[in-house]
Parts: sequence; C-alpha cells; structure tokens
Amino acid sequence: MSKNISRDKKLIAGNWKMHNSIKETSQLLDDLTKEYESIHSEHVEMVVCPTFTSLETANGKLNAQKSGIKLGAQNVSWENSGAFTGEISPQMLKEHGVEYVIIGHSERRAMFGDNNETVNKRLKNTLKNNLKPIVCVGETLSERENCQTDKVIKQQVCESLKNMNSFVANNNSDSQLTVAYEPVWAIGTGKTATSLEANDVCKLIRTTLSGMFGEEFGEHTRILYGGSVNAKNASDLFSQTDIDGALVGGAALKALDFIDIYKAAIVNTNCR
Ligand code: PEP
Repeated sequence: MSKNISRDKKLIAGNWKMHNSIKETSQLLDDLTKEYESIHSEHVEMVVCPTFTSLETANGKLNAQKSGIKLGAQNVSWENSGAFTGEISPQMLKEHGVEYVIIGHSERRAMFGDNNETVNKRLKNTLKNNLKPIVCVGETLSERENCQTDKVIKQQVCESLKNMNSFVANNNSDSQLTVAYEPVWAIGTGKTATSLEANDVCKLIRTTLSGMFGEEFGEHTRILYGGSVNAKNASDLFSQTDIDGALVGGAALKALDFIDIYKAAIVNTNCR
C-alpha cells in the first residue's frame, strides 16, 4: 500500500447488490457507456460492482466498449482455493477483469457474519493479490444517537486494518486502499448524513489512518461517502475537503442517476 496515490482521482463506485440479471446488466452498461463516453473525466474514476454471475458479461461489455469504466466485485475470500463453499477467490475475480473489491459492506456485516476480523483477513488477501479494496465502515443509528460514532469508526478502522504495517512498508504493487464511510442508518433509507457530518467522519478516518501508517498515507488515501447518495445531494458532499467520491447503491441502478452523480464529482474535482 505504499504507493497509495489514489486520492489524485475521485471515485464513483456503484454497488449493484443482488440486482440485475445478465440481460439487465448488459442493458445498464450500454446505457451507462453511451452517456459516460461524452462526459467522462480523467480526474474521476467510475466503477461498477455487479453480482458474481454478471461479471463475465460485464467484463466482455466493458472490454468491447473500451470506455474506461472499471469492474468491481461485492466480496472476496481470504482464501485462494479449497473447501470454502459459497466463497470466491481473488484469482477467480481477476479472471473476469475485476479490479476493485468491496469488503465489509454493512449488509455483509449485519446479515452474513462479517466483522472487523474477517474484513482484515479479506483485505490482506485482496492486497496480496493486487486487487483494489474498498473497505466499508459505519455506525448504526443507535450508536450515533448514543454519541458512539467516533469510537465505533476508529475501532472499525483500527481492527479492519490491523497488522498491515508490513504491507505499507514493503508492498510495491499498485494496490490502493479506499475506505468508504457508510453510516448504516443512511443506506437505502433515503436519509443522508449532512455533508458536514459526513466530512467530519471522513476526516476522522483519515486521521486514524495517519496515526496508524503515517501522515502521508492518511493524506493520500481515498475516502468515500455512501448512504442514499443521489443527484441532488452529491455535489454538496463532493465539495467537502475529505470526501473523495461515493459508494452508491440505489442510484447506481439507473444510468442517468449514476451519471449525474459522476458529473457532480467532475464539477468538484478541486475540492481539497
Ligand atoms: C450501498 O449499498 O453501499 C449504499 C450506499 O446504498 P444506497 O446508496 O442505496 O444507500
């Protein structure tokens, strides 16, 4: 992770969750590419994360379209092969052109047993295999209401990135860490953190990373906000000093909505 230069570009990543058949994937990518080609900026990356079963189709499309839209996956195993029913290895994802991986999304943490320890294991294997992780952290509503946000976020960052010093010191690969701040109460609910609230937590994540791995590392790590981002609130969020893009769920499923969020990132490329 020593070459964590990713903050030079904003990142708009679409988490398609368990939506879209192969046919729908194909259609959405056609619609997205048509718009993206005329507006895209070298200062903002776009990533789409379909279901595993749509990766092959998505990879084929994205290669044929040569648009520069990148491919991500929604999870990855900490193992590389073997008796791990239901898991998917980094190599399998790479066979389908996957570059980015979402790790520790709150839905995985709440419903499928992921926790800081498993996130840490997945993260290490992701970096070992030169995939680019997007590590998700975020507090629940009751944690926020009980003024636990800072404590919970710090703990999630410290434990999820535990024992990573050797990567920071020795890894000369292109692996780049991105952290996504996703307050659980804002995901899929239509409630968004205000841009100032979101920025405060993103800043806290940056300071925590600086404390763990050095100021340069913290300053160069891309930190996204996620939680009911849409075309209306995106620009305000992206104008904040410590928000370097978004992880988008619902609004990523409609090409024009996702493109509008991408455009808002282009408008705010110099906000640091
Ligand atoms: C998400 O799934 O990561 C997410 C932020 O969803 P939504 O944008 O729908 O809140």
